[in-house]
Amino acid sequence: MEEIRDCDFAILLISEKYLKSKNCMKEVLHVLKDKNYEEKILPIIVDNPSFYSTPGRIKYSQYWQDEKNEVDKLLSTLPTTSIVKEIAELKILEDIAHNINDFLIYISDINNITFEKLKEEGYKSIIESLGGVNLSHLASLLTISIMKDLNKKELLLDKWFEENTVISEAYAIRASIAKDKDNIEKANYNYEKALELDENNFYALNNYGYMISRIDGQADKAKELLEKAIELQPTFTIARLNLGVLLSHQFKDDDGAKIQYEEIISYDPTEAKAYNNLTNYYKSKKNNKKNNNKICQLYEKAIKFNPDYIDARIGYGSYLSETMGEHNYALKQYNEVIKIDEKFHEVIEVFKQRVEKIKLDRKTVMSRNDKCFCGSKKKYKKCHGKN
Ligand SMILES: [Zn+2]
Repeated sequence: MEEIRDCDFAILLISEKYLKSKNCMKEVLHVLKDKNYEEKILPIIVDNPSFYSTPGRIKYSQYWQDEKNEVDKLLSTLPTTSIVKEIAELKILEDIAHNINDFLIYISDINNITFEKLKEEGYKSIIESLGGVNLSHLASLLTISIMKDLNKKELLLDKWFEENTVISEAYAIRASIAKDKDNIEKANYNYEKALELDENNFYALNNYGYMISRIDGQADKAKELLEKAIELQPTFTIARLNLGVLLSHQFKDDDGAKIQYEEIISYDPTEAKAYNNLTNYYKSKKNNKKNNNKICQLYEKAIKFNPDYIDARIGYGSYLSETMGEHNYALKQYNEVIKIDEKFHEVIEVFKQRVEKIKLDRKTVMSRNDKCFCGSKKKYKKCHGKN
């Protein structure tokens, strides 16, 4: 396990199993002994380990504490002469139990790359590195890209530029830092550089396109960039969402946006944002019962696949109250928002008052024998109209 500290870089594939494996955790302990370990590991999240919350982290500490206690108990039954190896073992378990929390806090604090994301980009970052670019250089770049502290990120990147042959990704990261610091001119320059070095860098194409999509007079160029990113990577969901929003907002092309969202749903039927954004298409159509019900069903799906989706719940709430006359159900959506994030309390109060106002002069558009708007396929009177 020494080699992990000696080489420049370690890519850690972190999963539930990994965090409960003694050998893997021994490896982690070694890494942690290096004071610059943050620059030397690239954690990739494989399944969905639950260390993002304190209780989740305690669960892992507890796991290792239990393992240690187990060995402890066993030791007390053995004669002292035969337990040298076991004592070493005990020491390791104690070490893990003691340190795992710090490690998990670090991991949950950076912008993690998930295995899903890596898969989505076709392992581009890793595969490309095998084809000539020095793996450790690229990995160090990835590590920089997931850091949250902008100043530290910038500093390390400057160092990286000095020490390595510059590649497209490095300019793209520099551009994104500039953008996060509101230096659009610098971001522009670096995105152009990134694309000069690799015109097929679809992350740069997407991020550049997204950045300028909100700048006056740049809509055409933004569209071109996003379309190229999608052409290179047809399952690039974020790029399709960005293009959809650009088409409907800047080009008033709701049909074009609809194509993007439906395409996403065709390869990922669980993408909540695609359902939510699709409601805009139907809202732009005539206000008739068929479209109204379709809109409700899209919101239901968005919320089903992402129950914490605040925008969707607020959008649905207003729609339910203003168009459907479903005031109580609207209030339920609003109350959920506060449960998700207490910060929305005041905003939601305003929405709730609106519901009360609308309630006074409008009534429901549903008849009791209609199929319910929510898409349950039950009659309205047996579903949301029941009370
Ligand atoms: Zn219903």
